[in-house]
Amino acid sequence: MGKVTGFLEIERQDRKYTPAADRVRHYNEFVIPLSEETVKAQAARCMNCGIPFCHNGCPVNNQIPDWNDLVYLGDWEEASRNLHSTNNFPEFTGRVCPAPCEASCTLNLEDTPVTIKTIECAIVDKAWEHGWIKPESYRDKTGKKVAVIGSGPAGLAAAQQLARAGHSVHVFEKNARAGGLLRYGIPDFKMEKHLIDRRLAQMEAEGVTFHYGVNVGVTQDARQLIDSFDAVVLSGGSEKPRDLAIPGRDLAGIHFAMDFLPQQNRRVGKEPPQDNRPILAAQKHVVVIGGGDTGSDCIGTSVRQGALTVTQLEVMPQPPEKENKLLTWPNWPLKMRTSSSHMEGAERDFSVMTKSFSGENGEVKTLHCVKVDGQMKEVPGSEFDLKADLVLLAMGFVHPMHDGMLKSLEVKLDGRGNVEANVMNYKTSTPKVFSAGDMRRGQSLVVWAIREGRQAAHAVDEYLMGETTLPR
Ligand SMILES: Cc1cc2nc3c(=O)[nH]c(=O)nc-3n(C[C@H](O)[C@H](O)[C@H](O)COP(=O)(O)OP(=O)(O)OC[C@H]3O[C@@H](n4cnc5c(N)ncnc54)[C@H](O)[C@@H]3O)c2cc1C
Ligand code: SF4
Repeated sequence: MGKVTGFLEIERQDRKYTPAADRVRHYNEFVIPLSEETVKAQAARCMNCGIPFCHNGCPVNNQIPDWNDLVYLGDWEEASRNLHSTNNFPEFTGRVCPAPCEASCTLNLEDTPVTIKTIECAIVDKAWEHGWIKPESYRDKTGKKVAVIGSGPAGLAAAQQLARAGHSVHVFEKNARAGGLLRYGIPDFKMEKHLIDRRLAQMEAEGVTFHYGVNVGVTQDARQLIDSFDAVVLSGGSEKPRDLAIPGRDLAGIHFAMDFLPQQNRRVGKEPPQDNRPILAAQKHVVVIGGGDTGSDCIGTSVRQGALTVTQLEVMPQPPEKENKLLTWPNWPLKMRTSSSHMEGAERDFSVMTKSFSGENGEVKTLHCVKVDGQMKEVPGSEFDLKADLVLLAMGFVHPMHDGMLKSLEVKLDGRGNVEANVMNYKTSTPKVFSAGDMRRGQSLVVWAIREGRQAAHAVDEYLMGETTLPR
């Protein structure tokens, strides 16, 4: 602990955003980094708690008090080494993680947690800037071949760990580029994609081979593919969106969020469009159904495209402004969260159930809604209509796609329709096939995907070699 009285003397200070009126004119990131001196001062607030709850709240168990201390002391290079010992891609989590570590921080009892995510991001950004992040020389080749199917954060973390253990790693990805939802779901204004490309270059130099445009189980026979590898990791994500089966659902202008967001990400990335029916919010009244991260990304994207109005509907009641710490800390609390996209001009309404859509000439024009109570019972007399020319369904994902790869590999599913595999060995019911990330745990977070990828790599290495030194 560098500065014993830091938490008493220094106020919490976090990154700010550029003004909404400016940032909605582009798709670039808009978070303003803190100065080096300010980050050091923020790191000095860490109390190096006897029981560091932050360390447990973080899904990859980042050694937060250790690198806070290193930053305070100005040893950024060692801080980067420490950070990378638990997290392959801190520049991703430093930008898009909801930071459960900060919710767990002891100082959050006073609503002033250490700005852990900002410090993490500063460490890794500085490490790239100074050239401290290099391809890591891998050990002697083991002669074993591993296939990783799906290049989201889970697949990338697994592939990097396995290549560093000396295996010959091949990543198969159905899209034209790697990154999964990091590339095609999360908008550029939250995370610019050159950050992924920089990591891919590092991984290629470490010996990972990427095969793009290969949809395993559809354009490539899955059985044949796994026969030519010693082990296979399935990390295909949770891609089946939750639908809203109500009257009028078949009207034009009602789309899943993941039909809309990837189109814009491809435009920004100068990738050719995948279909010739662009979904655009410009000059439209947009309604986003679903109150989570995906819904928020639909708002930010719609605003940037020039929507006339954007309204977000959530069926659950409005959560409290502030949590009761004594009931929730150090766990992730349910409370009202306002994202940067919400601040860009969206209306939000809670406890709203959409009962039907109606339209003109086959195009959606109106949502017919009703208010519901906490038990999802309709409140009599609360019916109302909402104008909409574009409706985006952002109600989460139910499970991975079952057809294609999972069907042909005859992989057993769990009760929720995800791939069955436990977190001790990540093995599926099919010999030599493992699974990690959203495909195994259901829709989740980037940081959980990285954790699962790392742990699955540990399990695969142990399976192939009888022992492993990869961390879990
Ligand atoms: C719009 C949106 C915004 C989000 N925002 C955040 C956020 O801000 N912070 C956060 O922590 N989390 C966020 N999430 C969740 C997070 O992105 C996911 O939990 C995470 O990406 C899961 O990683 P994964 O590697 O398991 O799967 P994915 O990222 O889904 O990657 C799976 C990959 O597998 C490929 N694939 C699938 N099947 C096949 C096949 N048969 N053959 C070849 N390739 C295949 C897919 O093309 C994809 O590239 C968001 C999710 C969405 C949808
Ligand atoms: S809980 Fe907060 S104050 Fe304590 S060690 Fe972790 S970051 Fe530092």
